[in-house]
Amino acid sequence: MEQFDQNSLCHLLTLAETNSNCNEHKDFWEWNNETAELVNKLEKMGQIEIEPSINQYDLQYWGADVPIQIDKYPYYGCEVFKCKTCGTVFFYYLELGGHAPQKRYRVIRKELIAIENV
Ligand SMILES: [Zn+2]
Repeated sequence: MEQFDQNSLCHLLTLAETNSNCNEHKDFWEWNNETAELVNKLEKMGQIEIEPSINQYDLQYWGADVPIQIDKYPYYGCEVFKCKTCGTVFFYYLELGGHAPQKRYRVIRKELIAIENV
């Protein structure tokens, strides 16, 4: 399994693409909870290991089009998964803030990544 630091993650993200094979996984363009259908398609690629910024919680969380800032919560510690059917790449992390842990995924859309932070 790969550990993604800033350089290797940057390389990964330049390769990240969405396509129509799985309807672009639009349910997961914003953070959404794991479904059995999704999990069956995924394989783990690696783990992001990036220093969080000082303002790591200063980021809008919900929304399909909110920017991805890789040095902020929860992105800097996410695992990375890939869809075996279409090649779409996902962030994954375990949300522990609620009553029960929730497994959350979000499609990596490179056009949303604030690249100056990578
Ligand atoms: Zn897919």
